[in-house]
Amino acid sequence: MPRKGKAAVYDAPNQPFRVREYPVRDVKSGEVLVRVTMKTICRSDIHSYQGHRPNPCPGILGHEIIGLIDQIGVDVPDDMRGEALAPGDRITWTEYFHDGPSYYKDVHDMPQKAEGVRKYGHDLAEEDPHFLGGFAEYCYLQPGTGIVKLPAELSDAEATPLNCGIATMMAVVEATEVTEGDRVVVQGLGLLGLYGCAIAKARGAAIVIGLDVVPQRLAMAKRFGADHVLDITGIPAQEQIAAVRAFCPPDGADAAIEVCGVPTAVPTGVRMLRTGGRYTIGGLVNPDANFTVDGNDLLKRWITLRGVHNYHPRHLVEALDFVMANRNRFPFADIVDAVFSLDQLDDAFRKASEREVLRAAIVP
Ligand SMILES: [Zn+2]
Repeated sequence: MPRKGKAAVYDAPNQPFRVREYPVRDVKSGEVLVRVTMKTICRSDIHSYQGHRPNPCPGILGHEIIGLIDQIGVDVPDDMRGEALAPGDRITWTEYFHDGPSYYKDVHDMPQKAEGVRKYGHDLAEEDPHFLGGFAEYCYLQPGTGIVKLPAELSDAEATPLNCGIATMMAVVEATEVTEGDRVVVQGLGLLGLYGCAIAKARGAAIVIGLDVVPQRLAMAKRFGADHVLDITGIPAQEQIAAVRAFCPPDGADAAIEVCGVPTAVPTGVRMLRTGGRYTIGGLVNPDANFTVDGNDLLKRWITLRGVHNYHPRHLVEALDFVMANRNRFPFADIVDAVFSLDQLDDAFRKASEREVLRAAIVP
């Protein structure tokens, strides 16, 4: 009897998920078949599902995934730390894969921007190998995926956000050059913002100031290292800037990070910075995120403005090290606050999109 596995498939944006069965074949050379144990709904899954960004349909969404190795093909390298992989190992992996030569990968060390890079959760469900997304019982890891073995003491809830949310924020906070003694502003306290607060603090930030409009997130941010939180509901930009600057004498914050997805937050955040300050855009993932800044102000005040999208495979290794080193300092396990089954995916997406839950997990 050939094996089959279940997947929650959506036929078009905003259409209900249907659980379908697809054949589970033996692995080809370079592939790893994983039995998915947990996946979480990322904000970008919701953007795809709602049609804000193009995604092939019918499709299987989901890229924040962990699982157990079921079958391992020939020519699969060791994990990124050089540990041999074997069936039964619990692993996480880069949310994207790319095999072969690439200008960006080989010349600029940006494999996340390699030409033809593909991402898990962004492929047609109807084509072999069918299982390339998280909301399913299986996932076929493709050649060019960076794999990391997970320590046994790490819970599934702590481990699942590693390969998107945490690794992305390792890249964002690194690009922002947060260092000892910095005063850091984090605009937006969803999952990325919470990890951003914690990573900034772990890198030695003296003061972290978190801004959001959701009371539960503001409270959570305090547990993730924010020294001050500001509810900016209905607060004009000028007052937000004054409030942040009051925490950062004599002339403003050293660094600010945008992870709220609101374009107008950028000019506001830039004006919270001191001369020589650094600003990183990490949340404007959809097109037409326009804002207006005064270039003369950037010039005169030596402001660095940069964008960061996705991450280098080494950030996934660093993300795991960060969580292992800070498990007793920050409540990582509390990020996943609701668990659903595969056939409850509609409900899970609704609750996640309406921000009723912080990170919804799906367990097959
Ligand atoms: Zn994601």
